Amino acid sequence: MNSVRTRIAPSPTGEDIHIGNLYTALINFAVAKKHGGKFIIRIEDTDRIRFQEGAEEKILASLKAYGVSYDEGPDVGGPFAPYRQSERLSLYKKYAEELVEKGAAYYCFCAKERLEKLREEQLAQKKTPRYDKHCLRAVKNPQERIAKGEQYVIRLNILPGKKMWFKDLIRGQITFDSSDIDDQVLLKSDGYPTYHLGVVVDDHLMQISHIIRAEEWISSTPKHVLLYESLVWEQPIFAHLPILRNPDKSKLSKRKNPVWASWYLQEGYVPEAVLNYLALMGWSHPEQREIFSLQEFIDLFDLKDVQPVGPVFDIQKLTWMNGVYIRDVLSKDDFLKRLKHFYRDDEEIASLFERDNSPLFSMLLDIARTRMKTLKDFKGLVKEPKKEDRYESEEVVLAKSLSDTFSSLSESDWNEERILEALKKFSAEQNVSMKLAYTLLTGKPQGLPLPQFLTYLGREAALRRLQRYW
Ligand code: GLU
Repeated sequence: MNSVRTRIAPSPTGEDIHIGNLYTALINFAVAKKHGGKFIIRIEDTDRIRFQEGAEEKILASLKAYGVSYDEGPDVGGPFAPYRQSERLSLYKKYAEELVEKGAAYYCFCAKERLEKLREEQLAQKKTPRYDKHCLRAVKNPQERIAKGEQYVIRLNILPGKKMWFKDLIRGQITFDSSDIDDQVLLKSDGYPTYHLGVVVDDHLMQISHIIRAEEWISSTPKHVLLYESLVWEQPIFAHLPILRNPDKSKLSKRKNPVWASWYLQEGYVPEAVLNYLALMGWSHPEQREIFSLQEFIDLFDLKDVQPVGPVFDIQKLTWMNGVYIRDVLSKDDFLKRLKHFYRDDEEIASLFERDNSPLFSMLLDIARTRMKTLKDFKGLVKEPKKEDRYESEEVVLAKSLSDTFSSLSESDWNEERILEALKKFSAEQNVSMKLAYTLLTGKPQGLPLPQFLTYLGREAALRRLQRYW
């Protein structure tokens, strides 16, 4: 295949990139890389009402943080710059006018009130609301009205009754009837294009070979096909990916799930694990393996193998997979690097890394890795328990007793074996469970293997933890 060029075209209307769009980005990235092609980011910021300041920066930063790197985009430039639609307005106007000249589009001067009334009448008659081509028939000299400064839009002129089709790489042939399509606005009165015009013009000018996007855009594709036809442009290859679902099959939504890609990183998910999990949405490894590298995915992936039915995005499964990455996939050095990055602004945890080349710290990493599912779990395992306002007198007695037991160990006896003995002695003498010793020392009933963790902490620090009880 020559010159594969894929793209995502996010709209900066949310907080960040949606996890579903990250999935779309991953697939576009993989297809481009597999064929030695280019992956492009274009920002579709034509909806000025839903536009959110700062969203573009967040989207780009998230893509970078996940390692879904792009070859062309608004911040890195490229041969088809600018990559932000708001900076390309003259192009859309030019093609909208070209469509008018060809009779494939027309000027419309209808006031909002007329359109609303029309809509109400059609709804009352149980008809699907659509524009009635009034201006196509009634307006004789649009240029005169434009010259007078009248507001206008440009609409697609759909000839009804045409049976049409396009091929979708995942879903096969999709047929449609032009009678079902409204005379869509292409250019708005503010000079901005609508999605349909912007996307077709840019995908063509940016020489996009494959349009790979979520299934929610299938219903827009017929309009795009009509535009490609009218402009006599070659159609790209279409592939509509399945939409990710919650385990209850509902659409992933902000109300039910964390949907922003950066949330997962803030919660201590490893980017590679998230991408690995997303790769399995609608696709499976030929040997049914669940854990594989991005490169392996790129080598094996084929759009034709994607299953079009809604794959389930199950955060529990992702969390499990993240644990596998932490335990088994990341090298120890890499794991430490991720931890340092994750806790770069957390003084308490960052200070632990000052001992990062001691054998005890190395042991801590080994034991911590086996108990973690996210990087965030590390803090829960190692942080000092908080001093509470008051303790039960029974707890204080037990803490003192454990402290006495530990005090009887000298600094040189402070090793795993002797600590374990001491803990056993304490639990036998006081007739309490090991869980209680855990709670006294860590504030929680379970955590890291205690003798090893206490060896790492050192005698002084262990005693200090108990002293918070009095
Ligand atoms: N701007 C659209 C979005 O927000 C792009 C859809 C497409 O890929 O064509 O996702």
